Amino acid sequence: SAAKTASIAGSNMLVAVRLRPLSAKEKALGETSVCEVINGNIVAITKRKAAGAVLKSEMGSVNEYQFDEAFDERVSQEAVYARTAKRLIPSVLEGFNVTVFAYGATGSGKTHTMMGSERQDAAREAALQGGEASAICGIIPLTLIDIFAGLGVKRAQASLPNEQWKLFVSYLEVYNEKVRDLFAPDSYNLPVQEDPKSGIVGVGRLSSKPAKNADEVMALLRFGNANRRTHATDANATSSRSHAVLQLLMRQEWSNSKGKAVVRESRVNLIDLAGSERAGKTNNRGIRLQEGANINRSLLALANCINALSQGSSRKNAKYRDSKLTHLLKSSLSGACKLIIIANINPSHDMFEDSHNTLKYANRAK
Ligand code: ADP
Ligand code: MG
Repeated sequence: SAAKTASIAGSNMLVAVRLRPLSAKEKALGETSVCEVINGNIVAITKRKAAGAVLKSEMGSVNEYQFDEAFDERVSQEAVYARTAKRLIPSVLEGFNVTVFAYGATGSGKTHTMMGSERQDAAREAALQGGEASAICGIIPLTLIDIFAGLGVKRAQASLPNEQWKLFVSYLEVYNEKVRDLFAPDSYNLPVQEDPKSGIVGVGRLSSKPAKNADEVMALLRFGNANRRTHATDANATSSRSHAVLQLLMRQEWSNSKGKAVVRESRVNLIDLAGSERAGKTNNRGIRLQEGANINRSLLALANCINALSQGSSRKNAKYRDSKLTHLLKSSLSGACKLIIIANINPSHDMFEDSHNTLKYANRAK
């Protein structure tokens, strides 16, 4: 509705929750959903007294949380995009820094939401659930298409002397509080630092690749993804223990009346966060346990920075340096910025604790 579209235009953040469907395999194993979307913006989660309880008398307590948007398992990739990141495209072209986070436990649908699923069965699954067969493309490819279209319009309208619009791509990973450049596989523990000239906080020695269209960026992403650090845990064989941060830098250049070069830049961060599940749950030891502690710490720091941002007046209190993730995002989480959090949920009764924690986290961010 018009009122809802106005809400992100007028405010600087939007919190959405997305439920993923249970797969055919999960259903065959007897998993049942304990989450439900009401009115497109409320998520109800039910704690069952017994696994698989179906009778009213066996049901436990219900908790409801309200968000800007709540998407049930049938909402298509295109619709999720249209009601989240797409609303930020005009802001990006106006010079705002924008950030989209996918939050949630491992297996909740973060990568599906951000990248999409290249696997055929995911698309078939979506079609079976009444979604669209074109479930492949997530927010990242859809955003790229719209950004390049917007850049095309800006170039066509260019009227300043020597006006040019360019786009550069960086892709990094924060693993165990260390930053790696995913375009430079041998990079390790890159510094987060402030540019002495611009005052912008960023990652030192990070590669920045020019790109002309969405396909070029997607090819770069595939190259970077092959360099990602993943490790099997008891909870999920493809669990990701690191935050993946895709950064698009849009640069407008022109010459002023004295012939001097002028530059205006804005950034888009598209972030697939590490799994938010509790470190203890997966019987982790040693390095795995330390990974978990670092993930908890950065997700907590992120919540604190988002909270400060949403409260406006107390922005100065945000402790960006509490984690590498928030520190490197400092310039995008302060000043002229907008952000969207998409909290992903696996609605299975098996995942009750993680899902409830995700809802509470997203609820705190509002
Ligand atoms: P995460 O990145 O949070 O660990 P994934 O994105 O890998 O989770 O999702 C876990 C599984 O669920 C994948 O097989 C994915 O294809 C599937 N999935 C996630 N979200 C959806 C959805 N909205 N529709 C259909 N399948 C989905
Ligand atoms: Mg993932």
